[in-house]
Amino acid sequence: MKHEAAGQSTQAIHGTTITDAYGAPHLPIYNTTTFAFENTAALLEVADGHRSGPLYTRYGLNPTIFALEETMTSIEGAESALAFCSGMAAETSLFAQYGREGVVCVGDAYGGTMELLTNQLSQLGIATTFLLDDEVERLDETLRGGAKLVFFETPTNPALGIYDVAAIADVAHRHGALVAVDNTFASPVNQRPLALGADLVSYSATKYLGGHSDVTAGFVLGAAELIEPLKPWRKSFGSCIAPEPAALLSRSLRTLIVRVKQHNANAQAVAEAMEADPRVARVLYPGLPSFPGHALAVKQMKGFGGIVTIEIAGDAETTVRVVDGLGVFALAPSLGGVESLVTQPVTTTHYDLSPEERQRRGITGSMIRLSVGLEDADDLIADLTHALEVVTV
Ligand code: PLP
Repeated sequence: MKHEAAGQSTQAIHGTTITDAYGAPHLPIYNTTTFAFENTAALLEVADGHRSGPLYTRYGLNPTIFALEETMTSIEGAESALAFCSGMAAETSLFAQYGREGVVCVGDAYGGTMELLTNQLSQLGIATTFLLDDEVERLDETLRGGAKLVFFETPTNPALGIYDVAAIADVAHRHGALVAVDNTFASPVNQRPLALGADLVSYSATKYLGGHSDVTAGFVLGAAELIEPLKPWRKSFGSCIAPEPAALLSRSLRTLIVRVKQHNANAQAVAEAMEADPRVARVLYPGLPSFPGHALAVKQMKGFGGIVTIEIAGDAETTVRVVDGLGVFALAPSLGGVESLVTQPVTTTHYDLSPEERQRRGITGSMIRLSVGLEDADDLIADLTHALEVVTV
């Protein structure tokens, strides 16, 4: 069942036309590597692309993967989607196809993305220019160098910087460059980059889309003519999602909308409580009117997400004691799951950066990133309030 004009929650539950012949509400998993054909003519029909259908799972030609991609397409309001075995795999195909004339990466990006661009893809001739914070004003001038892909996250990790998707797309399109937004932090529930003017959107589905810290996956979505050229890369890199994680992810997408709305509400409550606590020097959360990117976030987002970054009124050593004193928040380097997680950017995502580079990105030793889960907000606030007892002001 597929409802073209339906709302996002209906799309999340009924967003695929691929259904079970026996009426099972959940498509059984096609846990097979290949599919048999009646004869050579039938095989060639699919292999040559004259008829779409199952063929070989690494090619993505498997009904479990089709169903996942169709559902995700419906939720995002995109024309086409490709599912990958991780967020990094999704980015690798994206950069391989569209980054060959150069990439401009705006704002702080996930550490793995920076590593991929700086250490690996540079060896293959894919050059990246990084523009941080207000250096985005130099985008126009930078694109005169010939780069044809602008890539960025909004909100960014961990400082939750907000970048104007429509304004960046305007500049990029004047230069004939494509715009790809890593929408992992916002999820399609809180932000639709394609509707704001971006050409492509990528995800680490490992985070909110999976939502239970039990599946590693990624997506790229956009117009069919932009997604089609990514298929040979995914096929040859062997980076397609497998049927079991695909089915798990399809299961998770059914509850995406309610989960993200609750993440938003819990994070807002945590951010407000932290802002009122004198032991916290600064709270970075797009939903707070005091946050510098708040007005822009209101303009382009429907919700402000589940990540709250706080800076405690204390040194790096005290910050470690706060982190280690948390009980409900678990110390783990991920985000977007039902359980609350905590990390210190200087010991995880930004560990390998020099002190100067951290300073350029506004990363301090007193910073704590909270991935606010779906526990009771009061319990999360009590956990933080208790852990902050080691801070003296
Ligand atoms: N993009 C963002 C914003 C991320 O936070 C991550 C992972 O933390 C990735 C991409 C990479 O995703 P994955 O770990 O699924 O490869």
